[in-house]
Amino acid sequence: MKLKDTFGRTIDYIRLSVTDKCNLRCIYCVPGGVSRCSLREHGRPEFEKIISFLRVARKYGLKKVRITGGEPLLRKDIVRLVREIKITGVEDLSLTTNGQLLSGMAMELKKAGLDRVNISLDSLRSGRYREITGGGSLASALQAITEAERVFWPAPVKINMVSIKGVNGDEIPDFARMTLERSFHVRFIELMPVGGCNFDSLRIISGEAKKAVSSVGRLLPLGRTGSSDNYRLSDAKGVIGFISPMSEHFCDSCNRLRITSAGKIRPCLFSDHEEDLAPASTETEMEQLLLNSVLSKAKGSLLKKAIQSGTMQQIGG
Ligand code: SAM
Repeated sequence: MKLKDTFGRTIDYIRLSVTDKCNLRCIYCVPGGVSRCSLREHGRPEFEKIISFLRVARKYGLKKVRITGGEPLLRKDIVRLVREIKITGVEDLSLTTNGQLLSGMAMELKKAGLDRVNISLDSLRSGRYREITGGGSLASALQAITEAERVFWPAPVKINMVSIKGVNGDEIPDFARMTLERSFHVRFIELMPVGGCNFDSLRIISGEAKKAVSSVGRLLPLGRTGSSDNYRLSDAKGVIGFISPMSEHFCDSCNRLRITSAGKIRPCLFSDHEEDLAPASTETEMEQLLLNSVLSKAKGSLLKKAIQSGTMQQIGG
């Protein structure tokens, strides 16, 4: 059975934030830095609720789940969670991580059923990486990328780079060059407003990022997959994607729901409509939450209207 919203879009993808706890404090994810960001966990959806809800969503055609956070690898039961999610029958199970803890866990996650990973990487310079992430180790992130490439092969490792003026924008060509010899998918993501900051003056929109990439070589269009508009540099092994939630939002093809770290179902990252998983216990109640969330999906982008008051860490980027 397929799940359609009121605008005819098929909803078959859930982005699941499993914790708001993070071991990094990225400048654009938690504006205000340490003062706004606790290393303590405030939210984590309950294991059993997640699995029951996903089982119900599977009956309605759920195909794809992406686990995010906070940092999902901080959740002690993450391997068991991956295993149980995969058992529900989702076809494509992926996880977004900062990579700090991935080396050493990658094989265990793969064996539990994880199909692939996205690794966030915003600089190839260790001092700058440390500054952007509030203390992260570039060496650990790079090691995680190499490990993930081996473990999840032939699924490509996706590398997420949020490009920011005066911070890391000058590294866009270096990131593009990463795709020449290795089969990475490097994705340039437009900076989104969060935590009361609109970030307008810092944003590098995809058109500008594309121009910077063109200094490396000619870009051959490959078409769109999900939110990413994809290209390949001539003779490159990997793919370059541009994700443009601000300059060219992709709401018309949106197929997602989100579960926040507080265990609330949201029809859109920037919606304030939430359905609470906590009180639901029966399959019928879960089904009702699913249907309510899908039917409350707005047609277009709520992004420009809302300068999000929550942080990505809480909602799950
Ligand atoms: N801790 C994991 C990580 O770092 O990949 C997963 C959570 S993080 C919130 C998920 C993604 O959201 C990351 O790729 C991050 O770059 C992105 N993100 C966070 N804040 C953002 C913002 N203001 N604009 C655009 N992307 C953002």
